[in-house]
Amino acid sequence: MLFCSTRNSGINVPSAHAILNGLADDGGLYIPHSMPCFSLEEVSQMAEYSYHQIAETVLARFLPDYTADELHSFVKNAYGKQFDSEEVAPLVNVKNNMWSLELWHGPTCAFKDFALQMLPQLLPAAAKKCGEEKTVAILVATSGDTGKAALEGFADVEGTKICVFYPHGGTSDIQRMQMVTQAGENVNVFAVKGNFDDTQNGVKAIFTDSEMENELAENGIMLSSANSINWGRLAPQIVYYYWAYSRLVKSGTIKAGDKVDFCVPTGNFGNILAGYMAKKSGLPVNRLVCASNENNVLTDFLETGIYDKNRTFHLTDSPSMDILISSNLERLLYMMSDDKTVKNWMKELKDNGRYNIGTDMLNRLHSEGFVGYFCDDIATAETIKKIYDETGYLCDTHTAVGVNAAQKYAETENSDIPMVVVSTASPFKFAPAMLNALGEKCEGDDFEKLEKLECAVKMKSPSPLSELKNKQPRFEKVIEKNDMRSEVLSWLKGR
Ligand SMILES: *Cc1c(COP(=O)(O)O)cnc(C)c1O
Repeated sequence: MLFCSTRNSGINVPSAHAILNGLADDGGLYIPHSMPCFSLEEVSQMAEYSYHQIAETVLARFLPDYTADELHSFVKNAYGKQFDSEEVAPLVNVKNNMWSLELWHGPTCAFKDFALQMLPQLLPAAAKKCGEEKTVAILVATSGDTGKAALEGFADVEGTKICVFYPHGGTSDIQRMQMVTQAGENVNVFAVKGNFDDTQNGVKAIFTDSEMENELAENGIMLSSANSINWGRLAPQIVYYYWAYSRLVKSGTIKAGDKVDFCVPTGNFGNILAGYMAKKSGLPVNRLVCASNENNVLTDFLETGIYDKNRTFHLTDSPSMDILISSNLERLLYMMSDDKTVKNWMKELKDNGRYNIGTDMLNRLHSEGFVGYFCDDIATAETIKKIYDETGYLCDTHTAVGVNAAQKYAETENSDIPMVVVSTASPFKFAPAMLNALGEKCEGDDFEKLEKLECAVKMKSPSPLSELKNKQPRFEKVIEKNDMRSEVLSWLKGR
């Protein structure tokens, strides 16, 4: 199985190449020429598998140039003791027909761990397969969550180094502490005087600096990113859709072959696209419900066929979904059309901030199972409170956007198909918004709010969050945005 670019179907590269490069030279995203396929019998067998076995089985098809031995050890390393659940991703019944697929039992308590624990395994191996002997140095600009997940994933992984930049004063106390206390010999973290855009522009400038590239190459180092468009982040996310399905078969809720719905809280469209890839490779999926917060560009798109990012940007209580350009949507568009069409739409997006896929194409998206709903912060908070009062289940703000969408969907469709809501973060990761939703008052800092939430709901927060307060910060440097380049260079060159 080889990969092409969503903007040029004429190229043929193996998965290792796609992972090492991240983005194709033409600006497109890498995608397999043809989908692998699991038979119903294979899907049915998965009911007897562990998460690790399903991961090995599914990844073998989507990463065909990695050996079974490699994948076996990668899966073991990526989903080991750093997860606080032996099941890795527990599937919990919330009420009647609704399940929550909890993807936040990893080291940073959010779903990005599934991709960012695996990518650091795949990347150095990809470099070797491509005959590249340099150390891979990852640079990340983050507004909070991705930076920590990347640090945890790459910490002490041989053949890699990682440097994270975050906007000084632009993250929550907990997010900052998560990053600056990071362990590992190959990690570095800087606060940058400026906002997230300044930080991101600084990193982009470094990536396009050929002088710097040459200087690093002489020192045996190449730069890479851990972007969510990397195939090495998408493939590991396909796994948990198969896993969730296998749990429903195992528990006798469904028979193998019966369909299920998934509802996915969406930002960059990576998570829900992985669900679509699972469907296209043989998993019996009925609907894929795309849940958005007030930044509802995707809800409008799925209703009108017009993608229009010219709109007010809202900062919401589900910050990891505050996105107006959903990069991974490009892969879906390619799967539904062709490279030339995608190229034109992406040019329109760049030039005018909008494109229109037309009615026929929109109808096809619907017949493939996509529908979209959104809700604002008030409805998100109400959903958290109502589900908690009715069932005792506590979901975070991102998951609540999903639960709200799933409920709207259930009201319109009246179906008895099981609905799996993909739960993307621990409620304790967003304690201030959770306290508001539950009607609790607390004046203190993030850590006091975390403790207050624990008392209010009589549950303990995951240890990576509760232990944070007692850790010593390792990285306290605050730098000017113009000094990002020189700081990276002197760190990488070991001065
Ligand atoms: C990143 C993130 C999302 C959005 O996922 P996409 O793959 O970008 O659509 C949702 N919830 C949380 C908690 C996240 O960190």
